[in-house]
Amino acid sequence: MHVPLSASDFLDRAVQVYGERIGVVDEPDQPATSWGSLTYREVAVRAAAQAARLDELGLRTGDRVAIVSHNSARLLTSFFGVSGSGRVLVPINFRLSVEEVAYIVGHSGARVLLIDPELEPTLGDLEVPGLEHRWVLGRDDAQIYREGATPLAWDVDETATATINYTSGTTARPKGVQITHRNIWTNAVTFGLHTQISDRDVYLHTLPLFHANGWGMPFAMTGVGAQHVLLRKIDGAEILRRIERHGVTMLCAAPAVVSSVLDAAASWDGEIPGSGRVRIVVAGAPPPTRTIAEVETVLGWEFIQIYGLTETSPLLTVNRTRAEWDDLAPEDRAAKLVRAGAPAIGVRLATTEQGEVLARSNVVLEGYWEQPEETEQALAGGWFHTGDGGEIGEDGYLTISDRKKDVIITGGENVSSIEVEDVLFSHPAVAEVAVIGVPSEKWGETIKALVVLAEGATATEEELIRHCKERAAGYKAPTSIEFRDVLARTATGKLQKFKLRQPYWDGRERQVN
Ligand code: ATP
Repeated sequence: MHVPLSASDFLDRAVQVYGERIGVVDEPDQPATSWGSLTYREVAVRAAAQAARLDELGLRTGDRVAIVSHNSARLLTSFFGVSGSGRVLVPINFRLSVEEVAYIVGHSGARVLLIDPELEPTLGDLEVPGLEHRWVLGRDDAQIYREGATPLAWDVDETATATINYTSGTTARPKGVQITHRNIWTNAVTFGLHTQISDRDVYLHTLPLFHANGWGMPFAMTGVGAQHVLLRKIDGAEILRRIERHGVTMLCAAPAVVSSVLDAAASWDGEIPGSGRVRIVVAGAPPPTRTIAEVETVLGWEFIQIYGLTETSPLLTVNRTRAEWDDLAPEDRAAKLVRAGAPAIGVRLATTEQGEVLARSNVVLEGYWEQPEETEQALAGGWFHTGDGGEIGEDGYLTISDRKKDVIITGGENVSSIEVEDVLFSHPAVAEVAVIGVPSEKWGETIKALVVLAEGATATEEELIRHCKERAAGYKAPTSIEFRDVLARTATGKLQKFKLRQPYWDGRERQVN
């Protein structure tokens, strides 16, 4: 007899096997709203109280509940209270403007909106047609949870949508990615298999939970009885302190966050916390080779790269040190780990003639919410179109060359912005870099690098251009470099290249392959 897969399976198991173990350590810097430390049984009681309240409000299977919150135990628990009871959780980016949040709440048709207390001044009065209830987490808990009540059972359908995650909008208006129970299950279980998580793990949530469901960690870590430690604000030194305090063994981050940890490590007194113990899972953007090597040599942590998208729950590929790489020097190992990785179990990859990466798997989205045309386009031919350019090697490993939209076409040559960034990043004075295409009469487009220099470091435009010319073909070198104090990034630390490009294009059409 088969049992349909459900997001709730992970918490059900944790309660049965690890009920009295501390499952969640809430953010201590929010004493007014922190739930402190919760056993898995207590997590389940709160999730049940949330589900029971949704029953009472008349929310049916498939109805949407939106939540805008920094990382917190209430947000983590909602994955089980809302999705685990057959409704659909819509976790929204806390950095969006009021208009953007209103758009997502309206577009998803959410009946309930839960708000982080810190966001109440901006979102507290939000009026959206169809929205029936708007409550502040903590302050309105009596409205959000019905303590002691037992929620109704629901007929689990593993193909039903469990969450709708709006894409981060680095390229266009956010689209609502429908992730099913089966998607969540497949992602969590394959992640666990490829990284060997267990009840010995303590997982630090450095990644915002709204983003691709925290890459599935609310489910994966719960299912194996690991401990969740919540973190609200991403800061390199604070990450190191929390790792030390809680005995953290694993975290996930975009490359920019890894850089901030490396910066903090440079002025850290004593042994780096978690040295020899921590695995850091990096994705979201291409990690520079230098960063990969430094994770090992400076931090003493294991570097694992994964690649995926919100649309793929997100796990598509994994690159983790193989047995035969153990004896390599760190720089040589980094050169192996810089590729996006080999397909995770159950993932089939292919590329189009133009080099776009396609994927097929049980992690691929059901569709974009109420956007049938976009869905059809994304899933044309029975494959999910990633929008990323890449190559699959003979060994099955995928190398991402660039996002289709970020490739620079200069004088008829295609240049990967990622490749130029990696070369610039190998210069010690470069702390951050974004390479973009800007209009050029002669070449159609020409390469510009926006560079943030490392603290106290100096470098001239000529010197950096020369650095590139010495290491790659001349046409791949930037023709101009601008020095900046900061670069526009998303809440997960990704470069917002369309924003960085905008001022140079000023309404002009940019050709994309
Ligand atoms: P939007 O869809 O609104 O443009 P987004 O693309 O940032 O936002 P995500 O789903 O968060 O949305 O990001 C997925 C993208 O991140 C991938 O398509 C790829 O370009 C990039 N990415 C993820 N992991 C890696 C990796 N390991 N190496 C290179 N790029 C990566």
